[in-house]
Formats: sequence, C-alpha cells, structure tokens
Amino acid sequence: MADRTPRLYNTLTRTTEAVEPREEGHLRFYSCGPTVYNYAHIGNFRSFLTADLILRTARAIGWETTYVSNITDVGHLTQDDLVDPSGEDRMAQALEREGERFANIYDLARYYSDALLRDWHALNLRDPDVRPRATEHVTDQLEAVIKLVDSGHAYVTDKGVYFSVETAPDYGKLSGNREAEQLQATERDIVEDEGKRDPRDFALWKLDENHLMKWHSPWGWGYPGWHIECSVMGMRYLGDQFDLHAGGEDLIFPHHECEVAQNEALAGHEVIPYWVHTRFLQVEGEKMSKSKGNFYTVRDLIAPDPDDEHVPDAIRQQGGVDPLALRYALLSGQYRKPFNFTLKTLRDSARAVKRYRDVQARLDEALQSTSETAAATGLAESLRESYEEALDAMCDDLNTPGSLAAALKGVKAIEQADSLSAADARTATEWLHDINNLLGIVEPQHAATERTGGSDGDDDFAEQVESLIRERADARSAGDYDRADAIRDELDEMGVEVKDNPDGTTWERKGL
Ligand SMILES: [Zn+2]
Repeated sequence: MADRTPRLYNTLTRTTEAVEPREEGHLRFYSCGPTVYNYAHIGNFRSFLTADLILRTARAIGWETTYVSNITDVGHLTQDDLVDPSGEDRMAQALEREGERFANIYDLARYYSDALLRDWHALNLRDPDVRPRATEHVTDQLEAVIKLVDSGHAYVTDKGVYFSVETAPDYGKLSGNREAEQLQATERDIVEDEGKRDPRDFALWKLDENHLMKWHSPWGWGYPGWHIECSVMGMRYLGDQFDLHAGGEDLIFPHHECEVAQNEALAGHEVIPYWVHTRFLQVEGEKMSKSKGNFYTVRDLIAPDPDDEHVPDAIRQQGGVDPLALRYALLSGQYRKPFNFTLKTLRDSARAVKRYRDVQARLDEALQSTSETAAATGLAESLRESYEEALDAMCDDLNTPGSLAAALKGVKAIEQADSLSAADARTATEWLHDINNLLGIVEPQHAATERTGGSDGDDDFAEQVESLIRERADARSAGDYDRADAIRDELDEMGVEVKDNPDGTTWERKGL
C-alpha cells in the first residue's frame, strides 16, 4: 500500500491540512457525543459518522487509534448558542415532558443513552475506546474548576464560577469571533448575573441547590457547565496534548471556543491542533424542524411507529429502512458540504446496499462451488484499483461520495464477471471485507440480537425472526434441508434477509 496521510479541513487554521499525529502512526482524538435527553436525529448522527470515518480511514492506512466520545447527561442548557448558556437544563426539561415514564432524571438519561447506543450500532458506527459520561466525571470537573480559580483564570460570584476570558488572549481564534459583541450573549441586554466581570465570560459551575442533578462544591450545591466536561474528559483520557477534536458545526461557538480557552488555561499550552466540524444537513431542501414535519430521528427511519404520519408512507409500510441504507445515504454527501437528505437518496442508497448484498451472495456461492471455473479476466486488478481509489478519496478530506463511487466500480466488476473461480471469489471477498472496514456499508458488525429497535413491536418482530433462525439451524444440523429452506422462504416473506457467516447467522430487514 502506498504511503498515505489523510488530509482534513482544520477549522482552527481554515485550511485543508495533512493530519500528522504527535506520536507517529497513532491518532488520538475526541468527538463530542450526544446530550441524552431525547432520541438523536439524523443530523446528530451525520456528525458522529464523521468521527467514525476518521477512525476507519486512520486504521485503513495502518495507524493505531485512540478514540473518545462522551455522553452529556448533565449541564447542557436549552440556550447553548449563548456564551453563558441560559434557559432550562435540557435533561430537566425532558423529565418534565415525560415525567410519568421515568422514576427520575438518571432513569431518563439511562433510557436515552441505551437508545443512542442501539442507533449507533444499527448504523455500524464503531464504538469509541472510551465513552465517558459527564455525571461520572463531576469530581474531575470540579478539580479543574478549582484549578482555574486558583490560577486566576476563573472567579466566583454568588451565582456560579466563571471563566475570565480576559485571561485568554487567543479567545476567539477557533470561531474567528473576535468582536466583543460576537463573543457575548446573543440576546442583548440580558445580564443573567450582575457579578459577571465581562459579558464574554462563560460559566464553569452553576450554583443551584434546587437543581435535579447537583453536587457539593467549595461554593455550595450546583452542577458543572457543559463546556468544561469535554475539556476535562478529553484530557483525562487522551492527555494534555492530543491530535484532533471533532463535532457538529453548531459546536464551534461557544462550546469548542470555550473548550480551547479552558484547555490552554489548564495545560499552559496548546492541547489540540486539529479541529474538524460537520455541517448540518437539510431534509428535502429545507432546514430540519419539527414544525415542518421533516425532523427525523434515526428510529423514525429504521424502526418507525406505524401510526406516526410524519414518517413517509413508503418507509412505514415496510417497517423502516435497512440501517445500512441510511448509513449509505448519510455518506453520500461529504461532511463539510451542505447536504440535502431526500427520500430519493435513501431509495438509491438502498439499491446500492442491495448490490453489495447480491455480490456477496454470489461470492459465497462461488466460494463453495467445487466445479472448475475459469478465472475472470482482470478482476483482481479492477478490485485493487477500486479500493485504492476509495481509500484515496477518504484521505482527501473524507470525500465519501468519491469513495462510494470508487467502491461501486468494484461491485460492477464483480457483477460483470461472466464466471468466478474460487480464487476470484476469495480475492473479491477480501476486497468486500476491506471496503466494509473502510466505509461500513456491507456487513452489520453487530449480531442480530443487538440490533433490535426500541419499540415493543420491534422487539417482538426480532424475537420471532430469531426463533425462526434457531429453528432453521436445528433443521440444518438434523439434515432436514427441506425444512430449513422452507423457513428461509418464510423469513424472506417477512422481509428479512438471512446471512450465514463463518461465525454465525445474522439477519436484517431488506431495503426499500
Ligand atoms: Zn463537547
């Protein structure tokens, strides 16, 4: 494999740069995870997907990786576009909305983080090495705040502890917001705390003895601000000098700007040289919003409520789309370009994913065939070229549309081969495996039991499918192939595709 260095657009320097890890061949990075007060939507997932692609690309060129992505379960307020976020706590607001379903706020956080992980796995996102939760690192955050106060970077009022922006001369360097009015609360004339020395200062700790989630601090009961958690958990697991930080474009300011200021005040030097941000997506040409009815969570699309009329009929009728088709659709726009998510993209993606499945089935058959078959001319060479091109595209600022197109050339080469020898089938299977490692669009990495959706109806469906799969396995081991085939047909009619792999059987719903 030719030597490659991935290039990424760095928000900090405003240029596309070669990523050079501090430790050669080992990329350490952090990606902001979700706030678990609701189901995550497809725009959130587009940004988690960018981190997943950075991971896969780094591994494909032979690098080691250490990847941390957090779960925010405290401190994220509704008005997070303000420097000093005000409004309600998102978690507390959610509990008020859904109170009867949950015993307490921790129960709600657990419920939505479990849902998040199911969606994460359904979309074939690799797990981070560490997935820290803010509530499990409050002591670390408190220590950091104390350190900032002691070193003169923060001060205490009777409402909380604030970071003093005056002590961070580079404040504004990430977002490019340099003017005082860009750096303070966007709602003019609202001063939440008279004790604040500078309107640009942001909260590190909020004092509130009545808050649902509260911890004891030297200043009284309260809870940490949202920005400090990512600084603290990033440095805790990746050290005070690591390589890269990713997140959605909405996080550049104030969240990441504040992180930079905190990091550098805590460490005394630059902590993270590369910052990568994913643009928001639009749905059918419009900003995604609940009022427009074009707001989709992942489960709206992969396991919809049959009665939820805001989900298009075509998706509801078949009980949701194949999660890999959804992943494919999200990959069809580069992370940094405006991306218009449409039903048509989803349909085209389902078709592309099916082509992969079909060639996989053909390869499985060719691998088992004992008859002598002539080798396909030039197949190995076409596949090698396809993979190299797909990887080059990923190294070019995660050019996913280019990478998908290059990979499809390989699919086409297999489709067009008149015959496949066993050696061809082995080469092509290896190619498919490499493409899957790079893009995650061929094979679900999680077994069927982990892939069930959230609703009860979905669980029942999964149970029924798995019971049939067990029955089929029993029939096969008893040599009753007629029965096994009949069960396979039954599953087929249920819209389920069964795949036999060396390490077991997996299944999934067929595409659109
Ligand atoms: Zn964050």
